[in-house]
Amino acid sequence: MKIIEMFNKKRPVLSFEIFPPRPDVPLDSIYAHLEQFEALRPDFISVTYGAGGSRKGRTLEIASRIKKLHGIESMAHFTCVGHTREETDYMLKAMHSSGLENILALRGDPPADQPDFDFSRGAYKHASELVEHIRKVNDFCIAAAAYAEGHVDSRRLSEDLAHLKEKVDTGVDFLITQLFFDNRLFFDFIEKARAAGIKCPVSAGIMPIFKADQIKSIALKSGCSIPAKVVIMMDKYQNDPEDMRKAGIEYASLQIRELIDEGVDGIHLYTMNRPKSTREIMDSISLLR
Ligand code: FAD
Repeated sequence: MKIIEMFNKKRPVLSFEIFPPRPDVPLDSIYAHLEQFEALRPDFISVTYGAGGSRKGRTLEIASRIKKLHGIESMAHFTCVGHTREETDYMLKAMHSSGLENILALRGDPPADQPDFDFSRGAYKHASELVEHIRKVNDFCIAAAAYAEGHVDSRRLSEDLAHLKEKVDTGVDFLITQLFFDNRLFFDFIEKARAAGIKCPVSAGIMPIFKADQIKSIALKSGCSIPAKVVIMMDKYQNDPEDMRKAGIEYASLQIRELIDEGVDGIHLYTMNRPKSTREIMDSISLLR
């Protein structure tokens, strides 16, 4: 099923994001979690694409299994950075023949060890070009990334919003935001996006805080800000992993509850492959169906 049809029928659409295990870790490690995620009955599960295309086969395999074996709609992430047109078409065909109907079309990030990476070496420089290409070759439901605080490469939010509008206009069905820890940033972003003419559904990306160091490094890379109350929380529990996890679950649950109360189109939970904590969040926001 195309995910956009879900948004046409109900709001909020609930989705989970998982990532494939490292190549040296058997796929069974994630397969064991899938049953537990299935029990939480999300509307769909998305599977990330390793930076620069690493683990791409695994993305396909896992996304296809979620749909076929667990009966839950899935979405494969796909990044075009560094890919030739032929490689891109090969992946799109492979996704299509695996029965996948939904794709998160992304530019991706340059390899961490190449700060001067030349984006023009790939066939597509921006996600909008990839979206345009996918629209021409088949009929996937296409999602794209949005940034409530602006993408880290953009000088201004207004600049990023203008590019986002161009991207949506090339054929995006719905958007998912990068993580954010202050709902006001999301609400302001939605107001600006709607004023700029972006009409498609926008799912709010929520990442629970489980480990302070992990969140700091993700925030640094993604450019998302960490509010003072989160800094205080991370300092308070830095020597107690279980209390940190519980506080992170509570914080994410409060964020989600408020977003739902304000009529958000969708909640996209970055599960970090943790079904137990995901269940605790679902219990706490009473979304368990
Ligand atoms: P784009 O939409 O191309 O935007 C990137 C930058 O270019 C922005 O600053 C934008 O304003 C600017 N820009 C866009 N168009 C133009 C133009 N025409 N001229 C000038 N500037 C322009 N990464 C992975 O490697 N694997 C994943 O699985 C993955 N999943 C993600 C899931 C979500 C929900 C999100 C939010 C991000 C994910 N990412 C993933 C990270 C993403 O790849 C990076 O944030 C990347 O840096 C940007 O990708 P994009 O698709 O947003 O790029």
